[in-house]
Amino acid sequence: MSLERQVNIKTPAELRTMREAGRINASVLAKVRELLQPGVTTADLNAAAEEVLKSHGCVSPFKGYGRPPYPASITVCINDEMVHGIPHPKRKLKEGDIVSIDCGTVFEGYVGDSAFTAGVGEISPDATKLLEVTEAALFAGIENMRKGKRTGDVSAAIQNYVESHGFHVTREYTGHGVGKEMHEGPQVPNIGVAGTGMLLRPGVTIAIEPMVLIGTHETRVLPDKWTVVSADGSLTAHFEHTVAVTEGDPLILTVL
Ligand code: MG
Ligand code: MG
Repeated sequence: MSLERQVNIKTPAELRTMREAGRINASVLAKVRELLQPGVTTADLNAAAEEVLKSHGCVSPFKGYGRPPYPASITVCINDEMVHGIPHPKRKLKEGDIVSIDCGTVFEGYVGDSAFTAGVGEISPDATKLLEVTEAALFAGIENMRKGKRTGDVSAAIQNYVESHGFHVTREYTGHGVGKEMHEGPQVPNIGVAGTGMLLRPGVTIAIEPMVLIGTHETRVLPDKWTVVSADGSLTAHFEHTVAVTEGDPLILTVL
C-alpha cells in the first residue's frame, strides 16, 4: 500500500452512504459471528457472508483484489493467522480456536471495512486477554479520530495501549483511508508518534485496524501468497472499524 494514495474528504451525503455500507457490513459480520462453532468450515462462513451481501445487492471489495486475485468475500484467520486467511471447505473451526473475520462491503460505490476476533467455545486466559487488549486498542485509536488530532495520535494510542499490556503490534500492515476505494490515503500504521502525521479534519474516513501478536511483532506470509501468520506461531487478533472524523465525536460507520 503506497503512502502517496490520495486522501479524499467526504461530504455529509457521502458519509451517509458510507454509514449504510458500514451498517450492511456489520450485519454480515454479525451473521458470521453467530456461526462460530466447532465443526463449521471457513468456507461455510464465507458462503454465509456472501448470502447476506447478496440480500442487500452488495459485494465485497475483497473478491478479486490484488495479485493473485483474492478468491473470497471475507478473510478468516485462525489462531496464529493474523490477516488475509483464505476460506477453505476443509478447514474446520475447533473448540478453543480464536477466529478473526474481516469483511468489506461496497454499497452505492462506497466501502465499509471492519473486522473482529472471537473465540470458538471456551478459550484460554491468554487468548481472552489478547482479544480484550486488541479491541480496547481499537477504541483507544478511535478516541483520537478527532478534528485537530493527527494520524500519529491514532497510531501512538494503539501502540501504547498494546505494548503497555505486554503484546506487540504489527509493523507491516496498517490502517488506511477508505471511501470509494477500499484503500485510500492516509496510511495509518499501528505504531507511531503522537503529534505527527496528517492533520485530521471533518470528512476524513479511516479504517483503523490494530493487529496484535502475543509473541513478537514479526510475521510471515504463507505460500498461498495471502495468509499472514505470526513468525513464532503465537496467537494474533485483529479488530477494525471504519471511522469518520466529524466536528464532534468520532463517528463509527461500521456498526448496526
Ligand atoms: Mg478489513
Ligand atoms: Mg482495512
